[in-house]
Amino acid sequence: MNCYYHTNSPAIGLCKHCQRGLCSDCGATVDDSLACRDRHEEQVVALDEMIKQNILKSKRAGSDYVRNTIFYGIVGLLFTAFGVSQIQWLGVQAVVYAIIGLALLWASLANYLESKKYK
Ligand SMILES: [Zn+2]
Ligand SMILES: [Zn+2]
Repeated sequence: MNCYYHTNSPAIGLCKHCQRGLCSDCGATVDDSLACRDRHEEQVVALDEMIKQNILKSKRAGSDYVRNTIFYGIVGLLFTAFGVSQIQWLGVQAVVYAIIGLALLWASLANYLESKKYK
């Protein structure tokens, strides 16, 4: 394969933006990527930036779900344990606590399953 701009020069790689072959004169290195010098350098920078941010975003979202799993899990367990242990003294009120606890445990489970998607 030869350079798209100089059909006599062998290409050293492809522009990340337009996928054209580039010789060492036409290729500009942007981070670890190749771009058409003075043509697609900005586009490739933007593309790399977008990819980086997407990775960051999914990592952040994943850790949010893990945090929620732990938070809902602990609070849910406390409510459930409290409700169940108080049922003979508090009656209906204790049942309400237990139901809240179970709902929180359910939320914890949902967050846990969601966090698995980001692994
Ligand atoms: Zn290009
Ligand atoms: Zn060239």
